[in-house]
Amino acid sequence: MASAIPIVGRVDVGGGCHAWLPGRGGWGMSNAGLVVGRDASLLVDTLYDLRLTRAMLEALTPVTATAPISTVVNTHGNGDHWFGNQLVAHTEIIAARGSLADMRQVGPAEMRQLTAAPDLTGRFARRIFGAFDYTGIEPVLPGRVFEGELVLDVGGTEVRLIDVGPAHSAGDTIVHVPRAGVVYTGDIVFAGATPIVWHGPFTNWLAACDLLLGLDADTIVPGHGPVTTKKTVRDIRDYLEFVHTQATTRFTAGMPALDAARDIRLGRFAELDESERLAVNVHTVYRELDPSMPPLDGPGLFGRMAELACPHLDF
Ligand SMILES: [Zn+2]
Repeated sequence: MASAIPIVGRVDVGGGCHAWLPGRGGWGMSNAGLVVGRDASLLVDTLYDLRLTRAMLEALTPVTATAPISTVVNTHGNGDHWFGNQLVAHTEIIAARGSLADMRQVGPAEMRQLTAAPDLTGRFARRIFGAFDYTGIEPVLPGRVFEGELVLDVGGTEVRLIDVGPAHSAGDTIVHVPRAGVVYTGDIVFAGATPIVWHGPFTNWLAACDLLLGLDADTIVPGHGPVTTKKTVRDIRDYLEFVHTQATTRFTAGMPALDAARDIRLGRFAELDESERLAVNVHTVYRELDPSMPPLDGPGLFGRMAELACPHLDF
């Protein structure tokens, strides 16, 4: 899954499209994108805190000086893709309707609370999110929502927004730039890291992979990890099918969800970062198979992952 493109901030991926890649991977270290038209640009996602977003916007200035950002698309409602929105509040911010629901549910206040908890969940959250600064963030929600598909003209460049969710989250937008053969996938694609099925159903995510594989776009800018190709989409699809099958077998045998997550041997997928996300993925499969199973809230899901990751943590 490694890419020849180094992780250096802004990467020109051709046809007026750019990727913004952080200097390292890990939880919350999300990518962004920029589509530059004749006299206007579209930004795909802001970042997890104001410092990161400000640094990105400054670094993009040489490109945006003659084509200012007029539109921002939040690919979904996880904070690492929209907490920087207040720095682009002058633009038209767009998201899928489902993403808006997620944003209303978990904002910066909830993340401050999660990372301040004194228990194992809080310690785990501080370990993975401790580098981010959630202070001073004013939640700025998208002013325009869409359902299904929306086609935009960005300074003469056609940009297609397609909501393929609910899958990773309650609404997942991919941003396709046909002329450039580029697609920004949000967290439908993680390159080198474990996909996490917060919402599901799995079938929607598999269908989203099939849609991506069928697009005339060979350059994939994932939500996390290096710029990649359709091979990574196939790998994501394989992981999701594998986990669904493995979890279903254990559900049928009456094994509790956390025990199932501990029991599953990941094989070739063990090399993916953040393998503890398996705890959430198994829980989501179980809820699909038994809709009467009560949902877990955010801290509950992070608690499950903390328990799975615990033997490897050095608190
Ligand atoms: Zn993300």
